[in-house]
Amino acid sequence: MNSDLELPGLEKANVISRDSHTISRKQIAPNALKVLYRLSDAGFHAYIVGGGVRDILLGNQPKDFDVATNATPEEVKKLFKNARIIGRRFKIVHIRFGREIIEVTTFRANHMPQNEIADHTPRRQIRGLDSAHSKSGMILRDNVYGNIDEDAMRRDFTINALYYTTRNFELLDFCGGLDDLQNRQIRIIGDPIERYKEDPVRMLRAIRFSAKLGFEIEEKTRQPINEYSYLLDSVSAARLFDETLKLMIGGFAQRTFALLSEFQLGSYLFAPTLEAIEQGDPVAAKLVSLALRNTDERLASGKSVTPAFLFAALLWPLLKLNLAQSKNQGLHPQQAFQQAAQSALMEQLDYTAIPKRFTVASREIWELQNRLQRRNKRPIESAFNHPRFRAAYDFLLLREEAGEELGGLGQWWTDFQNGDTKLRSELIAAVSKPRKRRRRRNKRKASGVSE
Ligand code: ATP
Ligand code: MG
Repeated sequence: MNSDLELPGLEKANVISRDSHTISRKQIAPNALKVLYRLSDAGFHAYIVGGGVRDILLGNQPKDFDVATNATPEEVKKLFKNARIIGRRFKIVHIRFGREIIEVTTFRANHMPQNEIADHTPRRQIRGLDSAHSKSGMILRDNVYGNIDEDAMRRDFTINALYYTTRNFELLDFCGGLDDLQNRQIRIIGDPIERYKEDPVRMLRAIRFSAKLGFEIEEKTRQPINEYSYLLDSVSAARLFDETLKLMIGGFAQRTFALLSEFQLGSYLFAPTLEAIEQGDPVAAKLVSLALRNTDERLASGKSVTPAFLFAALLWPLLKLNLAQSKNQGLHPQQAFQQAAQSALMEQLDYTAIPKRFTVASREIWELQNRLQRRNKRPIESAFNHPRFRAAYDFLLLREEAGEELGGLGQWWTDFQNGDTKLRSELIAAVSKPRKRRRRRNKRKASGVSE
């Protein structure tokens, strides 16, 4: 391929030359540049697009860099030994550099009229097609390649459709993205209803970017969301999980959750949590809001967060409700607790998938809540040495801060962790005694002896 050949579609772009925009190579991850240069040296056209360009122009640090090119996934793969083609609905190439992944997509065109698939068509029949959409207009396959201008028009929002190239260091704008960045607006490209029908997740993405960037959602983009939110019902639980993670661990969970409520989209992801909150337990709403705040704060200070902790918090109010409901069933407390935990998770799985490693960890955080209350040497030490102790302790503090009355348990564990061996033994001794006394009292009560 000859790199001097003009790229078809380029003539449709508003080209901003090197000295008229603020992007410099220094702001782009070296590995992303490496990908651009290698593609370009091989005669292809390659651009940084999406969040990378948008965030640099806004003066923010991009989360990652996505590359768009006229090379096919197979051609990209040939150029990089660390490349892997992933995805079926939407084939992309992941190029791995240690922990960093650069995502490379081939320019695509919108292709609505082809291959309408009847509802409930088996997946294997869709598999062989390059492009397909459902009766309602939802895109099921999107692997028809196109020109760069078409690629721009099939992206979601104008601010996400800006392209930067190291060839002449130009910035390309095909649909008014720069104006919208200037006016701080999220504007969908094309007809909003059609675009939401193609992919209902775009409604969630509008919320996500609005929360992340502090941008308004432009009127025509916002207006159909209420009427068409039901389309989210047809999105797979696995994809909704991916999107939920982006919404909740993108650093703006609190604002996102509030916007999801404002647009009445929360019930497509968190119905069990919202219903539990609506039951009127004031601690429930507080706990969820504190968990979101905590997540945002941790991310802001560079700490890690795990979806397991987040789901443990989101579903804790439901677990407690379940537990209260099983009170009169005569179950052993541990069995009742396990059942309550299990059904809380099952209810959530109707909305979003949750990979097993996370549900296992959420459950451990919950189970440790009980164990942290036991106050004898052995159980204290075994809880303390549990790999999930730290998360469980953080969760305990969150519960107390939300207003659960736990008799100073959080402070006790804080002291315990900070103490040396001697102090720890003293702390254990101090709590072990009353426990024995209480037992005796209970025994007397049980045998009908009054005090
Ligand atoms: P982030 O900062 O979260 O990475 P981003 O804009 O880069 O934001 P990605 O999910 O990484 O978002 O997607 C990269 C780009 O791919 C987007 O900017 C957009 O141009 C396009 N895109 C992603 N998802 C969709 C979608 N559902 N419909 C249309 N275009 C999409
Ligand atoms: Mg991105």
